Amino acid sequence: MAMNRRAQDYGADPLAVRDTNHYQSEYIHGFVEKWDELIDWDARARSEGDFFIRQLKEQGARKVLDVATGTGFHSLQLLRAGFEVTSADGSPTMLAKAFDNARRRDFILRTIHADWRWLNRDVHDFYDAVICLGNSFTHLHNDNDRRKALAEFYATLRHDGILILDQRNYDAILDHRIEPTHNYYYCGDNVRATPEYVDETLARFRYEFPGEHVFHLNMFPLRKGYVRQLLREVGFQKVTTYGDFQETYHDTEPDFFIHVAEKS
Ligand code: SAM
Repeated sequence: MAMNRRAQDYGADPLAVRDTNHYQSEYIHGFVEKWDELIDWDARARSEGDFFIRQLKEQGARKVLDVATGTGFHSLQLLRAGFEVTSADGSPTMLAKAFDNARRRDFILRTIHADWRWLNRDVHDFYDAVICLGNSFTHLHNDNDRRKALAEFYATLRHDGILILDQRNYDAILDHRIEPTHNYYYCGDNVRATPEYVDETLARFRYEFPGEHVFHLNMFPLRKGYVRQLLREVGFQKVTTYGDFQETYHDTEPDFFIHVAEKS
């Protein structure tokens, strides 16, 4: 089972691994532990400020579904800010870690183990907002899976709900071959994240931690315009894209884009 695996397994040809289901075995226990140990939650909170809380409050959202809980950073922030939060993820390793992180901070997470492509099999409620953050959507390797996931997010939203989804600025990497600055999501000096290989359908990142711990993630390099188009095609009426938490930005500068998609 993925939870017990000791090393990531990309087989003989790692660049050939372009499969949506692979996220389950990428987030092995050792990687999740290192990630959480070395990514500084306080620094991350300072970088993001109250951006997501403000967005949610402006839209009058109260009940939030975090579909990419990971180790629980945003779920906990929103719980602390008084939102009613449900925390979903397709990885049991991640959910276990998130639950533990919350419990150590005196919160009990309401968790749901669900893959986005079949989200509504397991999520039987409606939400004011769905959040999919930390460059998570990049794990879907084909167009059909992306449309299916977005349609599932759309379906669990109330008629006036919003989806907040972020992504790394892959356009800059694909077009200009520049290394992102990693200010926002890999806070601290302990983690070095570099694009080891990039083409139009694969971004393979290398994550180096002290003590020669090296992990990889094979992701799909989402172009900003494509994601905006997908959001509109699944039915969202208005899509606003921010660069590194600002409304105005130069296209090559931001590390991350944040899309706020409104259902009505
Ligand atoms: N949002 C967290 C953060 O910012 O720290 C976690 C981000 S982590 C990069 C991506 C998360 O998405 C992982 O926890 C992974 O298990 C989850 N994920 C990837 N593909 C998924 C899918 N198809 N269905 C459900 N969860 C998925």
